[in-house]
Amino acid sequence: MSDGAELPGRGGAADESVREVAALRAALRNSEEERQRLGATLDSIGDMVTVQDPDFRIIFQNKAMRDCVGNHVGEYCYSAYERRDSICTDCAMREAFRDGAVHRLEKSLAVPGRPERIEIVASALLDRDGICLAGIEVVRDLTELRRAEATVRASHEQLLKSHAELVATQRQVVQQERLRALGQLAAGIAHDFNNALAPVLGFAELLQDEPEIRRGTPKLRSYLDMILEGARGATDVVARLREFYRPRDPQEDFAPVPLRALLEGVVLLTRPKWRDQAQAAGRTILVELDPASPPEVICHESELREALVNLLFNAIDALPLGGTITLRARAQGEHVRIEVADTGTGMSEEVQRRCMEPFFTTKGAKGTGLGLAMVHGIMRRHQGRVEIESATGLGTTVSLLLPIGLPSGAGVATAPPSGPVRRLRVLVAEDEPLVGRMLLELLSSEGHAVQLAASGVEALEKFAAGRFDVVLTDRAMPEMNGDALALALKRAEPAIPVIMLTGFGALMNAHGEKPAGVDEVLAKPVTRAALRSTLEQVSARSIRPESRGAAGTSNPSS
Ligand code: ADP
Ligand code: MG
Repeated sequence: MSDGAELPGRGGAADESVREVAALRAALRNSEEERQRLGATLDSIGDMVTVQDPDFRIIFQNKAMRDCVGNHVGEYCYSAYERRDSICTDCAMREAFRDGAVHRLEKSLAVPGRPERIEIVASALLDRDGICLAGIEVVRDLTELRRAEATVRASHEQLLKSHAELVATQRQVVQQERLRALGQLAAGIAHDFNNALAPVLGFAELLQDEPEIRRGTPKLRSYLDMILEGARGATDVVARLREFYRPRDPQEDFAPVPLRALLEGVVLLTRPKWRDQAQAAGRTILVELDPASPPEVICHESELREALVNLLFNAIDALPLGGTITLRARAQGEHVRIEVADTGTGMSEEVQRRCMEPFFTTKGAKGTGLGLAMVHGIMRRHQGRVEIESATGLGTTVSLLLPIGLPSGAGVATAPPSGPVRRLRVLVAEDEPLVGRMLLELLSSEGHAVQLAASGVEALEKFAAGRFDVVLTDRAMPEMNGDALALALKRAEPAIPVIMLTGFGALMNAHGEKPAGVDEVLAKPVTRAALRSTLEQVSARSIRPESRGAAGTSNPSS
């Protein structure tokens, strides 16, 4: 109807009151328009909004809120929310009514059809005197945001994990590469050392048997003994170094071994060191064997024992104040995992990275740095691997992982045939004068008739001119090497046994490498015993009549 218009014919107070009524109506209309505008505005926002009076009665809900919970205007907030879907158990609005401040809270809901995660911001509307008129609650759906955050967090964690794995793999590859390169280096060093040791050991052995020496002063004999001892010690070191790089010998004896008994044996074997010596030094070391019954493994028993003894020795060294060493073995997938864990000093990252390198030691003169290098070599030959976990101050666990199945190519060693010792006519091809002389003397002292040739060509000439039962040849020689010489010899006389003597002998034997025309490969430095048994073997195998011609075998020519 007509609301603010002035009516004619009335005057004074009446006019006044009419004007007032009109103003009131206009104000009401404005207020209603304002309310509707406000409602429309609040309806247009995505967040859910509720206005409540101080008794929690709902005065207003915007569209988002109505869509979510239904229309509850006029009801108590408690009945609208708390009883039905527990939005408000830890009511932010109550807090806002209490202190007039803004309260924020985030929570999860477990109500079908409602957001999973919401944020509630509640604030109180106060009048000029600070009296609370109403409260406004804005509820925001955080479900998608939090889900996206969780996804991002998960992929970030995955990324971190992948990165760590990559770094670990990279480190492992670098370590494997370094160990491989060191293996090649070690093989070369061993070769040269064996060559250098050959004459020292050979001549010293020969000297021992010399009548003048036997009759000589005690000082002379003791010096010679020390030279021999030193040379044998050096040979041992080279042999241990060899364990690091040598590949598996197809002849090696792999057999099923009951692990339990092996571990018990190792504990007993090392007892003098971990119990008696440690006790004497005032420290107590406990060695515990995990009672779990480990499976049988197919392995080279003495090698595995040696590896474990080395690990135990290292663990004992790492317990200067005493502690516990635990041995455990269990199946893990396709492997058997044997662990030697100590509560000792642990290793720094640097030591952990380098501990398997030959000659790496932190024990000064007391260490050789060959223990873990040997363990590494032994595990490689078993197609297994070594894993090390260590923390400084906390201890170390070294694990040996052995494949449960028989490593391919593993076989059972056969006993070499032995034959009678007899006087042989031997041709020696060796370009190193010292080694040549040593062989000549050694073989002669065994009663053989020896001729020495300083090259392959010279050996062929001598072979053609004389009669021989066996030929010993070096491998690396200028012009015609040992391989070529062996072939030429076999062409001339297929039945002639050829023994190749070389600083690479150990490596060649391990590879099963035998050049065509070669019957046996013998490693330098050769001992009198090894030379004797090889000569016995080849001469027993070859069916060469004793009565064959005897020319040119009497005396060495150089
Ligand atoms: P060595 O025992 O002669 O030093 P190894 O090859 O056996 O040589 O060990 C190399 C190095 O690895 C040791 O010098 C030591 O620093 C470290 N190491 C090996 N085992 C352990 C262990 N159980 N606890 C702490 N450090 C160890
Ligand atoms: Mg050691």
